[in-house]
Parts: sequence; C-alpha cells; structure tokens
Amino acid sequence: MNPRPQPVLLAALGAAVLGLGGIGWLARDLTAGGEESSSRSLLDLLEEVGQPAGGQRQEPLPRPAPLPPRHPSWQSPLASSCAPSRPAERQRLGQLVEQLRRSPRRVAIDPTNFGERFSHDAFGNPLDPTPRVVVLHETVYGMSSAINTFRTPHPRDVDQVSYHALVGLDGSVVKLLDPSKRAFGAGNSAFRGQWAVTNPAVGGSVNNFALHISLETPVDGEHAGPRHSGYTAAQYDGLAALLALWMQTYPIPLDHITTHRAVDLGGERADPRSFNWRALQQRLQDLGVLC
Ligand SMILES: [Zn+2]
Repeated sequence: MNPRPQPVLLAALGAAVLGLGGIGWLARDLTAGGEESSSRSLLDLLEEVGQPAGGQRQEPLPRPAPLPPRHPSWQSPLASSCAPSRPAERQRLGQLVEQLRRSPRRVAIDPTNFGERFSHDAFGNPLDPTPRVVVLHETVYGMSSAINTFRTPHPRDVDQVSYHALVGLDGSVVKLLDPSKRAFGAGNSAFRGQWAVTNPAVGGSVNNFALHISLETPVDGEHAGPRHSGYTAAQYDGLAALLALWMQTYPIPLDHITTHRAVDLGGERADPRSFNWRALQQRLQDLGVLC
C-alpha cells in the first residue's frame, strides 16, 4: 500500500535520446540518393551531437551503485516440508492452480501505474530483471476501490501504484499485470541486501525483481491500526494457488516470499497486518511446493 515515487526521469532522457536519433535517421533518409552538399545542414550537425571523434558512440563506463543501508535480514516463517499432503486438499487446490493457469481473471490497469523492468541501473550496471521475490501487501480498502485506483491515470510519480495481482476476501484472484512488467508496489526497499537503483532521486527498490500481491483487507481493517480480524480461508487458498503457479514458473525459493513490512526501508509499512503464515504453510504443503 502507498508506495513512493517511481522513476520517469530516465524514460524522459531515453525519449530525448531516441528523438535525437530519429532526427539523425531523417537526415540520412532525406539525403540518400540526392546530391552531396558541401555545406552541412542543421540536421547533420544534430546527428553529430554527442559523438566522439572518429564517429564511434561510446557507452559511459558503469559506476558502482550504492548499496542498501543495513536492514534486518528476512527470516521466513515458512518451512520446507516433504510431509505427505492431504490428497483431497491437494486435488482441490491443484484445480485452483490450473484455473489460474488456463483462465485467469484479468483487469487491465492504466499504463501510468506500471513500467518495464530495467536491464541496467542508473549507473550503467546490468540488472537481472527475472522475478525472484514475492512481496505480500494488503489493500486496506476493498477490491473495487483498489482496482479503481490502478485504472486511474496518475501523471505524478507520487500517486503511481500497482501490484501484479489482488486476492479478494472471496478467494478470487485478479491478475493486473503480467509478471514481465514492473509493478510499482514498493518504494525505497531492499531484500537481503539487494535492491535496484533505477532512479537515484528516490533510492533503490525491489520492484525490478519483485512480484507484488495484495490481499483484500477485511472491513474491520479499514484503518491505520496494527491489526484486524485477518484474511479468509478462501483468500489463503487463492494466494497459495497463485504462489504455487509462480514458483513453478520463476526461480522463487520458498524463503523469497516476504512482506512489504520486511522490505520497506522507511519503516513506515506494516502490511500485510494479521497475516497467518501457518494457513499459507499448510496450503503450500498440500500443493507439494515446500519439498
Ligand atoms: Zn504494501
């Protein structure tokens, strides 16, 4: 809930560079097949801007990115277990996984609220954008309110927010973003000493390698207090099914399922409140993904 600003500066810079490149291409196209001119046009001069002598473009050398501040390391409440699952539960939850795989419920959100994963940080260092950490959140208000927020254009960085999926109190899973996209789920954040600094103005974040899921908060949780009555059994079913699907698809180890509270570096986020790890443990064990 309430992530902080996301970078648009680099995108704007990239657009400016692409624009300049476009002018250069236009200049070549306009002169192709025509007579050589002894005087250089404005477009020719523009094409040469930023190019060193010899005409070879040179990428700036990468500089070391800052490391995240010291932060308590994540200790997962989930435990590996190869104990025999409950067959009926395994079958029931397995059907949910298949349903999510074959016919998920999707809702398209506004493009201002998400972005592409970055292949390089702001300092020129390569980044691995593979989703490999799952961050759990809660909505605080209802599903329709959350969806409405994500579908609303937010030109200002501070208002932009998204998750990859929502899980309703009735257990319904709504996919908002393909995992290949970068959701704006967390602001200044890190996981076990890792973050990606894509906009130094707002610090590092886990967003470039994270998948974000938000649980619908029960009605008695619509406040800033420390706890509420918790999530429904159907909600843990839907969450476990989605996690199992992603764990089969991406390199997400069990102990990479974490919370917004744990990754937040500002110490301001407490979600998801009143989360029952045992309920999730049992379902993931039934699904056989903890072995
Ligand atoms: Zn959150």
